[in-house]
Amino acid sequence: MTRFRDLTIRRKLIAILLLTNAIVLALVVAAFVVNEAATFRTGMRGELTALAEILGNNSSAAVAFNDGTAATGMLAGLRAKPAVMAAFVVDAGGMVLASYLGHGVTLSQVPFIVQGAAGARVDSQRLQREVARTANPLLLQRHLFVDSPIVLDGQQVGRVVIQSDSRELTARLEVFLSLVAAVTLGGFLLVYLLASRLQRVISEPIDHLVEVMKKVSREKDYAMRAEKGSDDELGALVECFNDMLDQIQQRDQRLETYSGELEGVVRRRTAELSDANQVLSHAVEELREAKEAAEAASVAKSQFLANMSHEIRTPMNGVLGMVSLLLESGLTAEQRNFAEAVQGSGESLLSIINNILDFSKIEAGRLELEVTSFRLGELVCEVREMLAPLAMRKGLEISLVCGPAIPLYLEGDPVRLRQVLVNLLANAIKFTSEGEVQLRIELAEEQGERVQVIFEVRDTGIGITPEAQQRIFDSFSQADNSTTRNFGGTGLGLAIAKQLVALMGGDLQVESEPGKGSTFRFAAGFAKSTADAANAAVSSSLAPEPGAGSFFTASILVAEDNTVNQEVARHLLRMLGCRVEIASNGAEAVEAAAHGGIDLIFMDCQMPVMDGFTACGVLRERERERGAGRLPIVALTANAIAGDRERCLEAGMDDYLSKPFTIGQLRGALLRWLPDLEMPVEAPKGSVAGHGAGLRTGVETSGTGVETSGTGVDSGVVGTGHDDGEADRDIFDVAGFLERVGDASYLEMFVEKFIESAGGVLEEMAPTVRRRECEEVRRPAHSLKGAAASMGAERMRELATRLEAEANAGDVSNFAVLFADLWDAFRAFCDRAPEIARRYGSGGGSGTRRLSSVEEKPRRLTSS
Ligand code: ADP
Repeated sequence: MTRFRDLTIRRKLIAILLLTNAIVLALVVAAFVVNEAATFRTGMRGELTALAEILGNNSSAAVAFNDGTAATGMLAGLRAKPAVMAAFVVDAGGMVLASYLGHGVTLSQVPFIVQGAAGARVDSQRLQREVARTANPLLLQRHLFVDSPIVLDGQQVGRVVIQSDSRELTARLEVFLSLVAAVTLGGFLLVYLLASRLQRVISEPIDHLVEVMKKVSREKDYAMRAEKGSDDELGALVECFNDMLDQIQQRDQRLETYSGELEGVVRRRTAELSDANQVLSHAVEELREAKEAAEAASVAKSQFLANMSHEIRTPMNGVLGMVSLLLESGLTAEQRNFAEAVQGSGESLLSIINNILDFSKIEAGRLELEVTSFRLGELVCEVREMLAPLAMRKGLEISLVCGPAIPLYLEGDPVRLRQVLVNLLANAIKFTSEGEVQLRIELAEEQGERVQVIFEVRDTGIGITPEAQQRIFDSFSQADNSTTRNFGGTGLGLAIAKQLVALMGGDLQVESEPGKGSTFRFAAGFAKSTADAANAAVSSSLAPEPGAGSFFTASILVAEDNTVNQEVARHLLRMLGCRVEIASNGAEAVEAAAHGGIDLIFMDCQMPVMDGFTACGVLRERERERGAGRLPIVALTANAIAGDRERCLEAGMDDYLSKPFTIGQLRGALLRWLPDLEMPVEAPKGSVAGHGAGLRTGVETSGTGVETSGTGVDSGVVGTGHDDGEADRDIFDVAGFLERVGDASYLEMFVEKFIESAGGVLEEMAPTVRRRECEEVRRPAHSLKGAAASMGAERMRELATRLEAEANAGDVSNFAVLFADLWDAFRAFCDRAPEIARRYGSGGGSGTRRLSSVEEKPRRLTSS
């Protein structure tokens, strides 16, 4: 069927016509054949019946007399009818009286004859069936049967039965079919020829239309037209097609016109655009220049601010240093009040300056976040502890709420995170008079190694109006004008916090209702870290030492004969918040301790009058006698040799520090022995802990004027561009000294003291050296060794160490030479050190502490 569908219309038409012709012919032939056969059979049956009747009439007498021979003779006449196969004359009992069999026919071919013992007999039932079948002209059988009664005197005495074949019919049908075949073939040929010609009437116009269509679509020539050959449906099809081409052609023409017009418009617009473009590029160029000028101005402004704040910080440190010295010198109550007011204001000013410095750094794009591992929990607790006194003073509590699953260790910038949190919490405390301040931390999301942590600072304070909420993140902006009057502040804190949060990938936002409270919220992104990384970061040299930032409300007695060491110890301990008493020898120390009120003694081992070991023994003995508690005694010794520690412990001391000691070591000793007296205030933390590193860098790289972040102390020194050669470092290792002590505040004073005391010791030693009195040489040499070590007078320390060692060993041979060298080294120190100290002192200022803005804010608030 599919194949027929795919034929050309021409073939389809021919096939349809041929098929129609074949069907018609077949029907006609079938009708003829059936009719012919029926007619022939009916005729033949009639003929046979007549023949049987004649035979019956003729043989009735023979049957009546049972004369078989006469009957057989009667039947013999059938030989003239070749179609008759057999004929029988049968008596009334059904027995065959006479029979006739055609040429080559046997009785077995006759179906109704049954052979019995009495002869052949006719099976009537079978015969009736065959006769009945013969009566139906439509049944095409090979044989015909006729049964006719023999009647005599109105009585049936027998019957004549004839069987004939249809040979004649078959012969006639064969002739007929050959005729039909010839006619069919001729008809087919005729139909084919006619169809081939006639189908053109339909297929040709269609073929023509298809051809034209193909050409149009191939050549896109819509001017072509198909020819209409008739007015029938095909003619209408051609007309429609031509119509369609007409429309396409017209539309094309219209399009062409439009596109011509459009081109014109585009040309015009392009010209206009290029004019506008030129104007725009001029404008852009001008804008770029203006922007560059503005940026340059902004950078210059930020640079100026940074420089200014820096420059102001230096003398401010001087002022604060002097004030703290002033506060140490027996003042009257009124003078103390004044001095404390100066200190408070100075610290506020310093904090403002630090804020401005931070802000200008952010503005100038110079502030970059560090990436280091830290413990978030620890940081948050520190912040809370730092602000707890401030909150307590206002009767507030800082509650801490931490959500689940926050990683313990993170990687980010803890210093800046702390700065933001301190700022927000300090504000919350500042603007809240009752209720509570809450710091809430929650994990926002965790993706692989990165986490987003949400920080929320909530208070129940005065709140902020919606208009003010728009402003408060701008620099130098406060909620209203009365804020400064009532609460102080510069309006920089939130601006800085917002920028820092942005650097951490978050956005600081506020929700607040006046009179009800405020909530500041931000999310910051961190990488997850491990405990190892966090510990490594903490123990790295730039990080604060353990306990860094601790303050101690302790009274410390320092037993030390050397005035330089006395000053160094006093200075460092004060920086740690301690009250300091000095004893110049063991006896004085024993006496001072007797007065009580001392929390810990730092005891030099070798001192005139009574050495440290003896003094310690006396003190322990007294404790035993009085049943008093054990006072911690930490040995300070210049003998950094093995076994010294054991000796000190044996003598009853608890701990041991070798000279020169650093502020970190002092802090460590205080943390170990006076943990209860550690104050939970972090104020001078970064400033003290960070100094050493900053200074060292500054000295070694000879100062670039660039400040490292956060410590807020180094650039004063760094920026002066000192260049101390190796030779100078041998004479006076100022960098080492500053690293131990923390800042350059008292440098000149220390140098002066050292020169004075070392000069005295050397003068005292001179005659004993000459007299070669070992013990008299050993003692001052030891003292000089300790002082030189603390001061960083490296060459002197080395020579004093050798002199002491030789005196110890009783070898006097090199006394004179070593002593002369010692004098030379001392003179060199006197030549160089004061100048170096002056340079560092003036560059680094003389304040007691410099605080980064991070730590300053709470301190300022606590002291206000
Ligand atoms: P400062 O506190 O130094 O004035 P900030 O930038 O930290 O500067 O704050 C800007 C202003 O925002 C504050 O002066 C105050 O008016 C308002 N503000 C900040 N935090 C709060 C708060 N928790 N409650 C009420 N007002 C606040």
